[in-house]
Amino acid sequence: MAMPFDEFGRPFIILREQEQKTRLRGLDAQKPNIAAGKAVARILRTSLGPKGMDKVLQSPDGEVTITNDGATILEQMDVDNKIAKLMVELSRSQDYEIGDGTTGVVVMAGALLEHAHKLLERGIHPIRIAEGYEMASRVAVDHLECISHKFEFSATNVESLIHTCMTTLSSKIVNRCKRSLAEIAVKAVLAVADLERKDVNLDLIKVEGKVGGKLEDTELIYGIVVDKDMSHPQMPKHIEDAKIAILTCPFEPPKPKTKHKVDIDTVEKFQTLRQQEQKYFDDMVQKCKDVGATLVICQWGFDDEANHLLMHRDLPAVRWVGGVELELIAIATGGRIVPRFQELTPEKLGKAGLVREKAFGTTKDQMIYIEHCANSRAVTIFIRGGNKMMIEETKRSLHDALCVARNLIRNNSIVYGGGSAEISCSIAVDAAADKYPGVEQYAIRAFADALDAVPMALAENSGLQPIETLSAVKSQQIKENNSGCGIDCNDVGTNDMREQNVFETLIGKQQQILLSTQVVKMILKIDDVISPSEF
Ligand code: ADP
Ligand code: MG
Repeated sequence: MAMPFDEFGRPFIILREQEQKTRLRGLDAQKPNIAAGKAVARILRTSLGPKGMDKVLQSPDGEVTITNDGATILEQMDVDNKIAKLMVELSRSQDYEIGDGTTGVVVMAGALLEHAHKLLERGIHPIRIAEGYEMASRVAVDHLECISHKFEFSATNVESLIHTCMTTLSSKIVNRCKRSLAEIAVKAVLAVADLERKDVNLDLIKVEGKVGGKLEDTELIYGIVVDKDMSHPQMPKHIEDAKIAILTCPFEPPKPKTKHKVDIDTVEKFQTLRQQEQKYFDDMVQKCKDVGATLVICQWGFDDEANHLLMHRDLPAVRWVGGVELELIAIATGGRIVPRFQELTPEKLGKAGLVREKAFGTTKDQMIYIEHCANSRAVTIFIRGGNKMMIEETKRSLHDALCVARNLIRNNSIVYGGGSAEISCSIAVDAAADKYPGVEQYAIRAFADALDAVPMALAENSGLQPIETLSAVKSQQIKENNSGCGIDCNDVGTNDMREQNVFETLIGKQQQILLSTQVVKMILKIDDVISPSEF
């Protein structure tokens, strides 16, 4: 048999029955949909919790990502199935809204689908299941509100914030340094937070990384770090009380465009042109000096000749700085971005107490630190680590921690983690099921069982017996009436998450339940899958 190859030389198989395959309708459509959703959830299940595993993902061009973050795993998986794509969207919306809990939300949705499948087999109509789930999710969300606690914190007492960030970081590769990273995240968020309006603009926190050093060297800089160097190696590397001109216009003589024609037929003419060009640039440098700038940061480049001139006229410059960075520099230094050179005035200069160039490692790698700024409401977290994948994963983990700290500033309610909140909700939902006489009560009970999936996955991933551990914890919760009993993943010796300091945000947990219910309802209501070619 001859094997066919596609245009990239990859072999493929042609199925003979392909043209006979008809489009799916009714229950036949629902079951594969549910299976697709469950398959995605199964992949993430092993990544949940402090003992969760990491995944290696290879992109089409061979780049490798190692991560534990649910949203990142799904984002990079290149899912093709339409229903599986909904699960990717689910994780992404949790990431957009809350930042953390992206694995948990998919595990929860997977469990809901699994139980829905059983109910479908028993002949319950999908709409009744969807309605039952909706009722149950309302009960669960209200119950979360009841078992939540308010965390008091102030600018000086941030211990509670740090502990919640530590819970987030404990499931990541970086958990070795979770205390110091959590402190950094909380300090960074508090530095840019508006405590009165209870809002945090995370755009003001720049996360920059450089390969080398160790994770412990990660630091918070009250200012901006730019991965650039001074344009000329002989320029000063240490500028105090810098007055910074922030330019987004070209900082060089205008080049004759190819459209125009310059006739040069004598040496003299060439000399005049050259001198004029030089004078033009000289005037620009003079203008910068006149307004009092001691450093120029430019979005554009300038050629070697200009560079040389700048060095001679003692005006340090940084070139090719990105737009986002320029904006942050402008915010931090209180300067204004100058889009047209003629508009440069002394008031538009940014002020920084210290600008220094720092060298790293044995390579000629330098970065520019802009510190002691006029307005310190823009900060940089500078990550160090053994390799690029580690730094990327640290960035993602810090993103989760920053989001958690921000959520707590917006709403300082917490619930206990380690699956305890889910178990408590499961008990409450189960109790509520008795109140509904209709068929929905089956779906409500199934919802209660699905809530147990998170603690079960936590137990399984930690090498514990899932069912035994869950039932022991559940009975303990009922007996002691303590909603803080969860899975002791790290084998600390106590089930009480209050003692273990494992906290999660209330809004994060509520969002997980709401989003997963929403997606599962959506999948249950699909009874016809139509592809473009099948109309
Ligand atoms: P997600 O992407 O959903 O945040 P994680 O891998 O971060 O997934 O795992 C979060 C889960 O792990 C939460 O249910 C949380 O309560 C639990 N967890 C985190 N730290 C601990 C701990 N020290 N002990 C028990 N459970 C923990
Ligand atoms: Mg997490």
